This record gives sequence, C-alpha cells and structure tokens, in this order.
Amino acid sequence: MASQHKFMVFTDFDGTITRTDSNDFLTDNVGYGVQRRRELNLAVLEETWTFRDAFKDMLDSVKLPFPQCIDLLVKNIKLDPGFADFYKWATDNDIPVIVLSSGMEPIIRALLKELVGPTAEGIKIVSNQVDIHEDGTWDIVFHDDSHFGHDKSLAIRPYAHLPTNERPTLFYCGDGVSDLSAARETDLLFAKVGHDLITYCQKEGFPFKVFRDFKDIHRDIQDVFEGKKTTQQIAEEGAKQAAEENLADPEK
Ligand SMILES: [Mg+2]
Repeated sequence: MASQHKFMVFTDFDGTITRTDSNDFLTDNVGYGVQRRRELNLAVLEETWTFRDAFKDMLDSVKLPFPQCIDLLVKNIKLDPGFADFYKWATDNDIPVIVLSSGMEPIIRALLKELVGPTAEGIKIVSNQVDIHEDGTWDIVFHDDSHFGHDKSLAIRPYAHLPTNERPTLFYCGDGVSDLSAARETDLLFAKVGHDLITYCQKEGFPFKVFRDFKDIHRDIQDVFEGKKTTQQIAEEGAKQAAEENLADPEK
C-alpha cells in the first residue's frame, strides 16, 4: 500500500479529542457509578482484568436507551480547546487525522458533528460498533478479538511497514492503556498529562511527549512539518520533562 501522505496523525477519541471520556461519563452518571469504574480501571492497570471485559462490564451497567445516551453526551461532553484549530491546519496541509477508538462509532460521529462541525465528516473513524436490540437494550460490538476489544495497532501497521522511502511520519495521540500497542507502531507518541497512559509508558520505559491539550500537539507536529525539529528531538524533550515533573499525577 503506497501512501501519498508525508505525515499522518492517529488519535484516540475519548479524553484525547474530548476533555472527558464519554464512556466514563455514561458509566458514572447513568451506570453503576464512579467508584466501581475506578476499581475496574485499577484492575486493568494491575492486569487482573482485561480492558475488554472491564469496559463491557461498565457499559452493561448503563441501562439508558442508546439514542438517549447520545443526547446526554452531546449536551455534556466538551471538545479539547486546541482540536478544531489543529484539525483545520492538518486538513489545509493534507495531513490525515484518523480516530482510533475503543468507543462506539455512532457516539463518536454525533460528538464530532456537534463539537467540530460539518468539516469533521472528513475524519476517518476506526472503532467499535453498537448492536441495538428491538426492546431498546444495546450491546457494544467489539472491533476484533484482542483483549482491548479494538487493537488500535491494526490500522497503523500497513503504513508503519511501508518501505522507508514511502513511509509517512506517523504520530499518535492518546490517554489510555489501549493506546500503547498502537503507539509502538508510530514515530512519536503524545500522552495526556495526568492519565493512565503515562503511568503505563513509564512502567514500560516507552518514550512519549506529554500534552495538556491539542495546542501542544499542534505546536510539536507543526515544528516537525516545517523541519524545525525531528520526532527524536521532541521525544528527548519529553523524556527530560518526564524526569523533572510528576506527569502521571501532576497534582502531587
Ligand atoms: Mg481515551
């Protein structure tokens, strides 16, 4: 597969493009609540539960019909303050932005349309789906058989494995444990400050550059695009910053 692009940006959706995670919002507000969700998040980090089983358990606790879930999320979920400008810049410069998500496509489409506007229709989404039954109940339908439910590395690998002269520079933006397998295929990982992905990267010794919002990502990717910095230089800046600050939990 030849790629005509020199740069590609793969990004998580929940908690990365949005300020809060829409699935967490559903679990916390119309499912079994934040306490049980946190217990399962911890169990995933400690590897006593798989991400897939924990995530299904959380969503199964949400009994609200799916269209009402979408309405609730559209009213409550906010966009990252830098994403719309970044997406416009990327589009203007022929840099594809591809969403790789553990969430469900109809929710992501509805939120992107509400938060970014009609131009967001150009964003490709690779995610899980939903099966809505006749009685109004619904189930998540996982993308593949991986223990994440959606192995996000699958969509990146065809580009990552291109011959060097055809291979685009690949960026990944994320905040959760399901993002690490995908990030391994890319040249530079942006990991959100104060989230599980940083804990996981530090545990695994995996390089990353921290971001607070998409304005940080925009600045760094634009520097690479304009030839001012290499992805290696930005990863080194990230490592230095990580050594100086407590990024996994900046409140401490
Ligand atoms: Mg996320």
